[in-house]
Amino acid sequence: MTESIWKAKASNTKATPLTKDIEVEVAIVGGGITGITTAYLLAEEGIQVAVLESMSVGGGTTAGSTGNLYTMVDNRLHHIQAKFDDNTARKVAESRTTAVDLIEDLVFRHEIKCSFKRQPWILYSETGEEEEMIKTTKETLKRFGLEVQDITSTSLPFSIKSGIRVENQAQFNPAAFVSGLAQNLKNNCRIYENTPVHQIEKGATHILHTPNAKVKAAKVILATHTPKGVYGLHTTLFPHREYALAARLRSGDYPEGIFWSAESKTHPSLRTYETEEGKFLITVGYHHKVGQEDKDKDYFEDLEKNLRKYYDVEAVAYRWSAQHYKPADGLPYIGESTDDRIYVATGFSTDGLTYGVVSALILRDLLTGRDNEWAEIYKAKRFTPLKSAKPFLKENLNVLGEYLKDYPGSAEAEKFSEVKKGEGKIVEVKDEKWAVHRNEDGKLCAASAVCTHMDCIVNWNNEEKTWDCPCHGSRFKPNGEVIEGPAFSPLDKRNINPQK
Ligand SMILES: Cc1cc2nc3c(=O)[nH]c(=O)nc-3n(C[C@H](O)[C@H](O)[C@H](O)COP(=O)(O)OP(=O)(O)OC[C@H]3O[C@@H](n4cnc5c(N)ncnc54)[C@H](O)[C@@H]3O)c2cc1C
Repeated sequence: MTESIWKAKASNTKATPLTKDIEVEVAIVGGGITGITTAYLLAEEGIQVAVLESMSVGGGTTAGSTGNLYTMVDNRLHHIQAKFDDNTARKVAESRTTAVDLIEDLVFRHEIKCSFKRQPWILYSETGEEEEMIKTTKETLKRFGLEVQDITSTSLPFSIKSGIRVENQAQFNPAAFVSGLAQNLKNNCRIYENTPVHQIEKGATHILHTPNAKVKAAKVILATHTPKGVYGLHTTLFPHREYALAARLRSGDYPEGIFWSAESKTHPSLRTYETEEGKFLITVGYHHKVGQEDKDKDYFEDLEKNLRKYYDVEAVAYRWSAQHYKPADGLPYIGESTDDRIYVATGFSTDGLTYGVVSALILRDLLTGRDNEWAEIYKAKRFTPLKSAKPFLKENLNVLGEYLKDYPGSAEAEKFSEVKKGEGKIVEVKDEKWAVHRNEDGKLCAASAVCTHMDCIVNWNNEEKTWDCPCHGSRFKPNGEVIEGPAFSPLDKRNINPQK
């Protein structure tokens, strides 16, 4: 079973589902850090807002993260500087620093119990191979006003060749922050949980369809991590899944700080989380494209093995995986989409706890008609063919490869009987590909294997027992219901003929 430690330790928002039609100025789809912080800032401006969350507030990718808050970016600021310019990299740094400060302010203003703590960010090279990159990172961070210290050792149980340390970054429980903030959203905002939006009728007033009622809204914000529906943007967003676990140690010190290995292939990131029951060491890493995992690998096992090399692990208490979307040119997309008055906030890579709050600040200003000094660099409608070209071509060739797998005879099984208990397989039935799953009781269920987003063939994810789309990252339950990603609709149901 997989469960994130953040979700397990956060209180529930306890919002009820939407049961009758309503009209608001702004409908926000998605109650993660992006949706709830945006709702908070808009409600503060006196705007009538409704948040529609398909599951529980803060329970999406926000609860699947590492819970680190920092000015830096996963892809390093010097890459942004090189691709764009000094001004863009400076604005990225400024906007991210402001977002971390806002989170701190909200935590203290509302006394949100989410273990918020200022912590140093540490980047180190164990082998010395990445010394040059560390040097460049240091120079770039200094240039944008951060105080960077050289280090020759850390509190990790191995020696390093080189490293840098930046004080005053932060850590928290992201799910507890989001549900705490939601509980403080009293005026001008209604939150509905277990309320999936399965269609948006676009018009002068947009109409959002949920299972039991409709919402009319002049403006819609898709705070769904990746925008729901079909947008050209999806060809510039590359979905990856990444793995995490939280362990208790039998002995040894729990390191204090945000630890990033420069040789990230050998060392996933590390951090400590302290609860009333004691401390946990959290490690996160080993990503792959969604729906394209190496079937011979056990990513959780690899993470655990790596941790046990350095730590006396008593038990792995939690393990989970989550998804992130890498943008082609390295910057998130925040602002109005190609549809009038429908706004998006996406492409956060693994930096979205902070970018989600940057999005909230930008969207608040866009929707209240104020200038925002960062809006232009993150503009969702930007077109950057030169800066995006290499990753765009590579990733879209990869997507094309997945489409080509939909040729006759490429199914994984010919008969339902080949699908064992707990397994999922693609079975060809009358020239059509079916996603067939047999549960632990031996019962079969089937759906069309064609992803309802853009017609790619889904793959079975045995680790999490889901159908994952290798093209744009939609994920479905074994019975075809949507879990996450851009698809609105479930996989089309199919009736099993037991003779096959
Ligand atoms: C392994 C991993 C580690 C990470 N670590 C960090 C980190 O340490 N620091 C950092 O800054 N970032 C980190 N990130 C990135 C960060 O977690 C995300 O970018 C961020 O949480 C995105 O927040 P969000 O609110 O936009 O999306 P989400 O938290 O995913 O919220 C979107 C919400 O929309 C809801 N939804 C979806 N579809 C519908 C629908 N049709 N109707 C209604 N609701 C819907 C979902 O249920 C969900 O609750 C990490 C990511 C991963 C994968």
